Amino acid sequence: MPDVNPAPAQGATTVDVVVVGAGFAGLYLLHRLRGLGMTTRVFEQATGVGGTWWWNRYPGARCDVESMQYSFGFSDAIQQEWRWSERFSAQPEILAYANWVADKLDLKRDITFETKVTEASWDEAADRWTVRTDRGDAVTCRHLIMATGCLSNAKLPEIPGIDSFQGRTFHTGHWPHEGVDFADRTVAVIGTGSSAIQAIPVIAEAAKHVTVFQRTPNFSIPSRNAPMDDEYENLWKSDYPNRRLQAREMRTGILYPTATVGALEVSEAERLAEYERRWAMGGTAFMAAFNDLISNPDSNHTAAEFVRNKIRGIVKDARTAELLAPKDHPIGTKRICVDTRYYETYNRDNVALVDVRSNAIAAITPKGLRLADGTEYAVDDIVFATGFDAMTGALTKVAIRGSTGTTLKDAWEAGPRTYLGLCAAGFPNMFMITGPGSPSVLSNMIVSIEQHVDWTIDLLAHMRDRGVTRVEATQEAQDNWVLHNNEVAEKTLYPRAASWYMGANVPGKPRVFMPYIGGVGVYRQLCAEIAEKGYEGFRMEGAPARVAAE
Ligand code: FAD
Ligand code: NAP
Repeated sequence: MPDVNPAPAQGATTVDVVVVGAGFAGLYLLHRLRGLGMTTRVFEQATGVGGTWWWNRYPGARCDVESMQYSFGFSDAIQQEWRWSERFSAQPEILAYANWVADKLDLKRDITFETKVTEASWDEAADRWTVRTDRGDAVTCRHLIMATGCLSNAKLPEIPGIDSFQGRTFHTGHWPHEGVDFADRTVAVIGTGSSAIQAIPVIAEAAKHVTVFQRTPNFSIPSRNAPMDDEYENLWKSDYPNRRLQAREMRTGILYPTATVGALEVSEAERLAEYERRWAMGGTAFMAAFNDLISNPDSNHTAAEFVRNKIRGIVKDARTAELLAPKDHPIGTKRICVDTRYYETYNRDNVALVDVRSNAIAAITPKGLRLADGTEYAVDDIVFATGFDAMTGALTKVAIRGSTGTTLKDAWEAGPRTYLGLCAAGFPNMFMITGPGSPSVLSNMIVSIEQHVDWTIDLLAHMRDRGVTRVEATQEAQDNWVLHNNEVAEKTLYPRAASWYMGANVPGKPRVFMPYIGGVGVYRQLCAEIAEKGYEGFRMEGAPARVAAE
């Protein structure tokens, strides 16, 4: 199974490709680049592979796309051999899987761990990047591929006094590897996004008391997680190639039953029956109950009201239930959450919900939290489930200087601008895996990662075969893509939510809908057509004379 690497790249200062990040994207990239015969160095700031699943070790962390689908599909040997123990596997198992794949493909020898890429500068005369790290490396490469992740830049809230707290603090995205013992502790959890919704039920079982500080409630659907059923596993494994193909054409990259009718085209009884069926099925397929839930506000309202009523039915305290029932955004316009006994957890005696929308957290004090009205909460531990500087954070943190000397951060001051979410004008030979402007976070991300990697590898092969050493997205193609992105997003309800998709969770971040909402299948087709037309929208040039003479 392992490829024959062109040359061991560990320590090399000149390579064909530098990849930043060793999550699923970086791993698959390295495998494909080796197949192309390209020397590659991968830099990863963590001590191991796995990306998201290396960092997010909080209790309850698990995938919300079924494991039979949230896994690599590029190798039948891999998908047949690995066995998932649950319908939605937990973080330790997903991390073990990432390591297993990396070992099976013998990838780790080309990955430099505990090394953060800090800057990259384009040399216009040589058609090369020079990449620098916090360990003093300086590596030149023809191509730079950012596999830095959409949700890899954990974010603490801007609350005064955050450093003054004398107890323990944790961020879900930087969870201690040795785990955290919450026995006999009083715990504050700040945030009620996907991470909090997974963590709270598990922390509540261990801790003396948990107070959840909620600014915005989210819609959550029960996962109906269960041990993997042998028959179900066999059903998938016996038909994997066909099912993977189908998933790649779906809007979300996830194979589940979709609807051909809108929510208001059926009777109320039929509508409710369908919502009940999806609620019992569990998971994100709930949002595919009708084909207009993300575009028609009235249809969306029926789904939102159904979930609100479920919450009211589960949570015994009426005031708490009302606080937990989201009313400020259409369902699905913030990433829908998937949980295991989240709402039920508020029926426990040791769990309390505090609304910090009407009464904000004014300060973190040495002993706990103080709200705007002066109410104090003394706690032993604070868990920040406060999310990420999503999609752009990891990219703009690296000082990437393109052909004009402008940094990516400056170029994106008014919001990210890309062509296909893969490339940016002014940054030749730089590729992003699941960058802003691609379906990425709106999809089964492993499906999107594989598509981006395959497409990029085809482009690199195309360049090499033709002696092309420089490729750059044209300004015009980029402008048109940004326009198209915005037009498609405006046809949906997504821009109505103050979500991290819009950059709304980071003060000062421009409000732009960042992922491409046209759908994974449609996007794949567009990318394929662009390639077929000789990479329309890209400018390609041959090697400068002195590089050719190297
Ligand atoms: P990542 O896994 O984020 O890896 C990027 C890597 O780049 C990181 O290891 C990081 O350390 C490294 N890096 C970044 N910057 C630098 C730098 N400057 N120098 C060196 N290294 C750097 N998606 C789904 O489709 N389904 C799910 O169920 C799902 N569940 C999720 C659960 C959680 C808790 C989170 C946070 C995200 C989840 N996601 C899910 C999204 C998830 O991020 C992707 O599915 C996928 O794991 C991303 O892989 P990646 O390789 O692109 O990025
Ligand atoms: P998130 O969705 O951005 O949630 C962050 C939470 O912190 C929000 O509830 C936010 O409230 C709150 N918050 C931030 N600052 C605050 C403040 N000053 N005061 C009070 N509350 C504050 O982050 P996340 O939960 O880590 O999830 C991010 C994404 O990662 C998800 O959307 C999903 O794509 C992925 N993920 C997936 C899973 C999974 O199920 N597999 C699990 C975890 C994460 P506001 O909404 O009011 O800003």
